[in-house]
Amino acid sequence: MMPQTLTTRVCSHCDGFPVAHITTGSRTPDGQRDTLAATCPACKGTGTRATPANLTHAGK
Ligand SMILES: [Zn+2]
Repeated sequence: MMPQTLTTRVCSHCDGFPVAHITTGSRTPDGQRDTLAATCPACKGTGTRATPANLTHAGK
């Protein structure tokens, strides 16, 4: 039996990598690659999500 407490799990949306740096393909004037930081919308950039342990038993 699983204890019915909140468990912190790795976000399944981003797989624990909440902030992805996307290369835009252009370069900044000083020669760096220009990147955009995209934060995972599911976990808000935390990489983990607190879910009730009994959530998996929730039926329809
Ligand atoms: Zn996420």
